[in-house]
Amino acid sequence: MIIIKNLWKLVPFSIVACAYLILQFSWGNLWAQAIHTSLPYLMSALLLLVSLIFNRSRLALGAINACLAYAFIQNGMQQPYAEQSTQLLFIGTAILFSWHLCLTALYRERGSVSVWGLARLLLIIGSYIALWLAVRDGYLNTLYPTLKPFLVDNSHEHVWLGFALLSSQLASGLTLIIITLWKRTSTETAILAAWLTGNAIFFDFGLIAISTTLFSALLLAMFVSLIQSAYDLAFVDALTLLPGRRALDERMGTLSKQFSIAMIDIDHFKKFNDSYGHDTGDQVLRLVASKIRKVGAGGIAYRYGGEEFAVLFPQKKLELIEPALNKLRENIAGYQMTLRSKERMQSKKLGEQLRGVVSPREKGINVTVSIGVSQKTEQNNTPELVIKSADKSLYRAKNTGRNRVISTLN
Ligand code: GH3
Ligand code: MG
Ligand code: MG
Repeated sequence: MIIIKNLWKLVPFSIVACAYLILQFSWGNLWAQAIHTSLPYLMSALLLLVSLIFNRSRLALGAINACLAYAFIQNGMQQPYAEQSTQLLFIGTAILFSWHLCLTALYRERGSVSVWGLARLLLIIGSYIALWLAVRDGYLNTLYPTLKPFLVDNSHEHVWLGFALLSSQLASGLTLIIITLWKRTSTETAILAAWLTGNAIFFDFGLIAISTTLFSALLLAMFVSLIQSAYDLAFVDALTLLPGRRALDERMGTLSKQFSIAMIDIDHFKKFNDSYGHDTGDQVLRLVASKIRKVGAGGIAYRYGGEEFAVLFPQKKLELIEPALNKLRENIAGYQMTLRSKERMQSKKLGEQLRGVVSPREKGINVTVSIGVSQKTEQNNTPELVIKSADKSLYRAKNTGRNRVISTLN
């Protein structure tokens, strides 16, 4: 695996080299054509490899699904559509392709190699093999006269608009839209894009080179989603969905002119966790993060670590941002959160100790934050020094009663 992990770094070079060699030596002859029709296979293999390296098993399944559907179109559907076997293969492939995408979107990401992953893989490959065998050995032909009214509707220009296929595709499309809206990660979005692309192919099947071109585009979309999720993994905090520490470090490297940085820390959060439980703590972190995100005055919020946040105000002086920070502090302190019954106080005793710190009023609870803020000066002329200075202000805010904003001018 380590060798593969290192070898994959050579992939970009090999792609460029292969493309160049093809252009040099084979353009215009049969080879080039063969390479063109093989492009979706090559891309699926590449996507499969990269997905496995990045532990993105759902994209790996997507690659296999696309590869099989493309292979069926290339090898089984190049004869006239009027033939029964072609119709059955076409409809079966369209249905399998779309529903497998739905299932893949529904699955939880479980990494590359697991028993679950293998079971899912076998389901995809097994269903395509079953379809192939049923069509090849003519089992479906005996059913064909009964199925025909549902499969083919000759009144339409697009023969595929038969009732069975149309309703199945509508159902799978709708299911996938719901899953995508529910989960909202780049993988589901890519799977939805793959569904749309696949169905464009099945809809306009007669168009020259449509399957090769669109399957290549579909696999490219999946590659893009892989890059997006790798980016999110590195730069976006999964709990609060704010950019994380690494993103702040990157941004700090680009700052030069005037800027201010605020450090925000939730007050007595350890006690909050102890009395309400870690899950409620997580919910509160999300809520506080969503308020900090909307701080205004041009501030960009980051999760600095734990229950600490940083807000960067590029090109802003302190007097301009202090009112926004105070408003944010008041907004958080005044917000009454309602707990669901199972998340109520886990320990009554701790709850007593917390009185005045976190005040449970009826069902509502609230938290406060302390904020330290500093700006670029002649002494503190790097982002790191400004953060240090803001941290000192934060420390003072904590020591002078919490739930306040303290700024340092120099
Ligand atoms: P202070 O007012 O002085 O800031 O006190 P504090 O209790 O907030 O500070 P301390 O640094 O002692 O504790 C921070 C706590 O934040 C410790 C940890 O339990 C909690 N915490 C850090 N990250 C997370 C997280 O991702 N989820 C939850 N639920 N709690 C977290
Ligand atoms: Mg704290
Ligand atoms: Mg802290």
